[in-house]
Amino acid sequence: METHFSKEQLKDKDNKSSEKILRKCVHCGFCNATCPTYNLLGDELDGPRGRIYLIKDMLEKNKPANEKIVKHIDRCLSCYSCMTTCPSGVNYMHLIDHGRNHIEKTFKRPFGDRLIRNFLSQIMPYPFRFRIIGILALFIKPFNFLFPKRIKEMINLMPISFPKKKLRKMKVYPAEKRKKPVARVALLAGCVQQVISPQINEATIRLLNRHGVEVVVPKNINCCGSLDHHLGKSDLAKLTFKKNVLIWYDEYLKNGLDAIISNTSGCGTTIKDYGFIFRWDDDLKKKAKKISELTKDITEYLNDNVKLNFDKNKPSNKEYKIAYHSACSMQHGQKIHEIPINLIKKTGNKVFDIPEGHLCCGSAGTYNLLQSDIAKKLLKNKISNINKINPEFITTGNIGCITQIATGTKIPILHTIEIIDWYTGGPKPKVLNRL
Ligand code: SF4
Ligand code: SF4
Repeated sequence: METHFSKEQLKDKDNKSSEKILRKCVHCGFCNATCPTYNLLGDELDGPRGRIYLIKDMLEKNKPANEKIVKHIDRCLSCYSCMTTCPSGVNYMHLIDHGRNHIEKTFKRPFGDRLIRNFLSQIMPYPFRFRIIGILALFIKPFNFLFPKRIKEMINLMPISFPKKKLRKMKVYPAEKRKKPVARVALLAGCVQQVISPQINEATIRLLNRHGVEVVVPKNINCCGSLDHHLGKSDLAKLTFKKNVLIWYDEYLKNGLDAIISNTSGCGTTIKDYGFIFRWDDDLKKKAKKISELTKDITEYLNDNVKLNFDKNKPSNKEYKIAYHSACSMQHGQKIHEIPINLIKKTGNKVFDIPEGHLCCGSAGTYNLLQSDIAKKLLKNKISNINKINPEFITTGNIGCITQIATGTKIPILHTIEIIDWYTGGPKPKVLNRL
């Protein structure tokens, strides 16, 4: 694609990167075929190619975003299905990040919008604040008909319970029955996940410890920063990114880390991008690059580094029928698809891909809160595709998808690591108690 940035504009490093991306696009439109919002809304501007043009126009002319641009960019899920399809290797992820930052800097959103986005940015990345708001929401729930539609939707999506953590909160979880661990990894505890589904981190730590891996959970790292990043709040996001990079790098230098483990694929995608985000920062680029290189999804880490002990610990003779939901951030963001499926297959159960599995379930970070009508339609399609398999339970590697899909079906859904933990000697996941 021809671009028309001036020399002056190309002195801006973000413009320079985006120009390179834009030049790769041959506007073939293949990406539209696999874009969930284009499929649903049928408008060129609600597909990747249209959005690329909108961003190009805005950046080249250095013009402030307007309502039309914001509407179509906001409707993008950042699912990156378009990146998997694109034959020219267009990095849509970096382009839309730039577009969102430009919108945040140049467009004044209506008051209600600003309020909700600031609220999400100030609550969700902080586990304590999120827990308090969650508990308040439990009391408000019976009266939610009194609230405007968007607030009502947010209250509805809040969890109905906050399970107690079973593991003691420690900085280091030592490997079991070994004087010397076979490896040492850091785990990203996450923000929302550790409040609503602490069993996911517990299963991860238990499984790693049982297989000889020591796990460190740095106290001051919770959120990966992607929530603010996708809201276009780049300054806030960068503060979190920088803090995380410095803490992990310090741990890596002082005590050694073989990997940084993410068990939420949305977060893993962002951390793997820290190196790119700080590419121009002389102080941080080397450290951020190292952190990105060390980061692995838990299934990726297990597959490459751990001999899982499936044989001795088969907990059930029943062969379950499991639907695997490939989170967008996992399959499109991190290009991990077969690994989790193959790991689950080793449990001796039957695993099925969900039809139209490349399409998003509508969760997409805060998307189901900010674009609830589209998110609900995507969820409906996802559930109908899951029902075609008729599974006994569903599994995935991203807490956002678990929460979203659980609102649309009674079929139990759990994190992939809970299954692997169970089949290698951990407890049966509570959500499967009735099976
Ligand atoms: S598939 Fe790739 S090259 Fe073709 S229009 Fe989409 S982004 Fe551009
Ligand atoms: S990221 Fe997803 S929703 Fe956005 S343009 Fe690409 S395919 Fe469409």
